[in-house]
Amino acid sequence: MYEKTRAWIELNMDNLLHNVEQLKSHLSPGCQLMPAVKANAYGHGSILIAKALNQMGIRDFCVAAATEGVALRKAGIEGQILVLGYTHPESFDLLVEYDLTQTVVDAAYAGILADYGRPLKVHISVDTGMRRLGERSEHLSSILSFWKYKTLKITGLYSHLCVADGTSPMDVQFTLMQFQRFDTIVDALHQKGIDGFSTHIQGSYGFLNYPEYHYDYIRPGIVLYGCKSLPDDQPRLELSLRPVLSLKARLSSVRTLLPGESAGYGLTFTAQKPLLIGTASIGYADGIPRSLSGKGYALIRGKRAPFIGRICMDQLLLDVTDIPDASPMDEVVLIGSSVFSDSISEFKNEICVEELALQGQTISNEILSCLGERLERVENHKSF
Ligand SMILES: *Cc1c(COP(=O)(O)O)cnc(C)c1O
Repeated sequence: MYEKTRAWIELNMDNLLHNVEQLKSHLSPGCQLMPAVKANAYGHGSILIAKALNQMGIRDFCVAAATEGVALRKAGIEGQILVLGYTHPESFDLLVEYDLTQTVVDAAYAGILADYGRPLKVHISVDTGMRRLGERSEHLSSILSFWKYKTLKITGLYSHLCVADGTSPMDVQFTLMQFQRFDTIVDALHQKGIDGFSTHIQGSYGFLNYPEYHYDYIRPGIVLYGCKSLPDDQPRLELSLRPVLSLKARLSSVRTLLPGESAGYGLTFTAQKPLLIGTASIGYADGIPRSLSGKGYALIRGKRAPFIGRICMDQLLLDVTDIPDASPMDEVVLIGSSVFSDSISEFKNEICVEELALQGQTISNEILSCLGERLERVENHKSF
């Protein structure tokens, strides 16, 4: 089996370790990481990432769907796996069989989980203002009543912040209120003599912008992968983060485009002068947003090659006129760095996912989590 043949992801696990150490160095004593490895670990590959994190001493993970937890268990991941999202009662057997911890998404769902009859581990979600999942924080008696259900083993209580990435006074005020609502519930439960559950509320930005708040876990996703959601985000805690993922493809063909000739679906691009164009073997089905047609660029031999025409499902076209040596089989870098040096010259260039996100009018999280299943995932520089 050859590697890196068409389009692939390279995972720099040294950078993952670096990011883990960066986060750990700012955690309060007793607080642990519960990395978000949902959506195939933000496209990185959940099994490779969870196994690497295991080797770094991290045992607990959160996922969005029960099936994601099952995949981790089948790969030998042993710690707590929290399912953050909804699980249909038809799938409750999976929770038991694979020892997954289910989120209680509201009071009605607590009843449904209890009706199942078999013992289940759960974390209670508290809605402190996002209005997505969780029992409302004002409903103390309802939350208290979950402890009546004999088959529910409540091992955690958590909430989720919805404007923790914002730095406006309104966003800060709202987030502080969310923390306060959460703390009020936790204190009230403790006062009623209820204990033995862990607490967590911060994801990446909740931790970076509010590092002075301390709970049993943080649930980092995007920062662990070494990225910010957008390039201009400046969280209060500025960690030195290193991107774990590079995205690369092969140049499959190079050809000339004569003046007046057009290229690609819809013939949307027309050459004004003779051009050298290259075809890269990666497309929107691999996760390159089609909305970047005519906007982004890739790197070949350390130099920039602009996207031209429409991005296809499996391929895209590049203007390689300024890279006259560009040849079939060259590496095309879509995310990551590209270096070229010979006796005369040296080029180095880098594309970060944040840049792509900005161009595509989205956030890094979406670009990464949409990276396709058929991309090969290759581990690099593994030194631990
Ligand atoms: C996805 C998710 C996280 C991780 O989010 P990041 O912003 O990537 O750190 C944490 N908690 C919940 C409930 C989530 O859905």
